[in-house]
Amino acid sequence: MRRTKVTVIAAVALSAAVAVVPRASDPAPHDQVFVVGEAIYAADADDAQFAGAAGPVDDTTACTDSSYALKTWKVSGTFTWYYNGDGAPAAVASTALGAITDAGDNVAKGKNRCNLPTSFTTDYKYGGAATAKPQVASDLTCTGNDGKSVTGWGSLPPKVLAYTCTFFNAKGQVIASDALIDNVVYTWFTTKPANCAGQLYDLETTMTHERLHTAGLAHVDQVRNAAQTMTPSSAPCDTSRRLLGAGDYAGLKAAGTT
Ligand SMILES: [Zn+2]
Repeated sequence: MRRTKVTVIAAVALSAAVAVVPRASDPAPHDQVFVVGEAIYAADADDAQFAGAAGPVDDTTACTDSSYALKTWKVSGTFTWYYNGDGAPAAVASTALGAITDAGDNVAKGKNRCNLPTSFTTDYKYGGAATAKPQVASDLTCTGNDGKSVTGWGSLPPKVLAYTCTFFNAKGQVIASDALIDNVVYTWFTTKPANCAGQLYDLETTMTHERLHTAGLAHVDQVRNAAQTMTPSSAPCDTSRRLLGAGDYAGLKAAGTT
């Protein structure tokens, strides 16, 4: 029952955010640019819909569960991203860039909890500070593609911790991928505080999940695949999924990451 509910929520959010944007100057299929937006959700302890994710994460299947789901794009070579710190919550204003950088490295190199080789040759490279905003609207609309991949802060709908809009071409190559992190409803840490409680979320875990979307991964099942970073939602104070599980890692390989 829980499983069904979570799946439905994810599907609704995805379908609401999908848009196809052909480039006006050249409608030939191989030059079309597509965009898909994807979220990570908060698993509030009082929310029955996410009951499977609200407690401590059962990590016992992290390395035995090789489940993954794929989108239709991948990152090849270097993915350069920029950071706009406007609106960063004070608690993480000075450390957020480091956590986001670490999250990108986790995905680029395939850093994992399972002693699998971290031999991927992709590079998620920090390109510098941006004044441009992520092209992600507060209603989860992907608002355009300026060709620059920006990660930043802003308002998102209830339950949505962060949201990524990824632009890719007909060959499945990522052109740009913007991420917006909520700075209104949820609060964040980069180092887990003692006695962590309330709606306090780990920025690195969240951004590893978002960068896995950029890399071409979709969500797996919240309950059956609970230890993978690509479950649809995260629990407050959980840091156990900063690094990849076996399924996340297998998904990157299946997407064509080398
Ligand atoms: Zn997601």
